[in-house]
Amino acid sequence: MRLVMFEAGGKTSPGVLSADEAGIVSLGDIANSLVDIIDGGPDMLAKVNAVHSLATSIPFAHARILAPVMPRRNIICVGKNYYEHAKEFHSSGFDSSAGKDAIPDCPIIFSKASTTVIGPGDAVPASADPTRTVDYEVELAVIIGKRCKNVAKAQAYDQVFGYMIVNDVTSRHLQSRHKQWFLGKNLDGFCPMGPWLVTADEVGDVTKLRVTAEINGEKRQDALVKDLIFDIPKLIETITSVMTLLPGDIIATGTPAGVGIGFNPPKFLVPGDRMRLEISGLGVLENVVV
Ligand code: MG
Repeated sequence: MRLVMFEAGGKTSPGVLSADEAGIVSLGDIANSLVDIIDGGPDMLAKVNAVHSLATSIPFAHARILAPVMPRRNIICVGKNYYEHAKEFHSSGFDSSAGKDAIPDCPIIFSKASTTVIGPGDAVPASADPTRTVDYEVELAVIIGKRCKNVAKAQAYDQVFGYMIVNDVTSRHLQSRHKQWFLGKNLDGFCPMGPWLVTADEVGDVTKLRVTAEINGEKRQDALVKDLIFDIPKLIETITSVMTLLPGDIIATGTPAGVGIGFNPPKFLVPGDRMRLEISGLGVLENVVV
């Protein structure tokens, strides 16, 4: 299923794409948000299936798609998790993280606050960055389905509810200047996500998905999820060896090569730029820069 949050007629509701993908079937009578649906487990998914098959859909033209998941706490993010991106970042002069090595020995984990979240079509306020070094990062995001701790790699996919696209928008100068990445990753509006959350059963083998980004029609990023340095089971094992993950938690798994600082000179985002991020099977996430 492809699950969304949407606004129609002044009301915000969760929904599911209709079988013909021509519109949205509202789930507003059974839940207030997609996090409610994730929390509800198999019983809730049975209700979603019943509504999905019986209710009529709202045409896309009558609805506004919002960010699928408003996280209850920070989004967990992974840095330098594709080989070619780790090398381009290391040689860009903006990498304060790594000492002398481009490729990390262990996953680099940081977070983005929920106040960074915006939806498909929303404007990314790059002008809020006083250093004018804003960059894009297309990423596969994993949405956790169950409360879990100390998960072994072999059980990791059992904890996954679904997947979506995240754009880990970053101020490179703030990321570098403050050593820890937190400030550079946490400007308001610097985490577009969506357009929908696709359940894990529909995605199948996630390692086959292709992750791409175009800026103003120019292809910049293009990789396969199988190219991750630390794969999804390793990430879940590593994170849950330390902390409990909760239903609705989001893990952004890292970005491939081709970000703005991979070019010489860097190609930073400026107002008017159009970002088109796509992951096969997960839709297209478009945002304009202001
Ligand atoms: Mg990132």
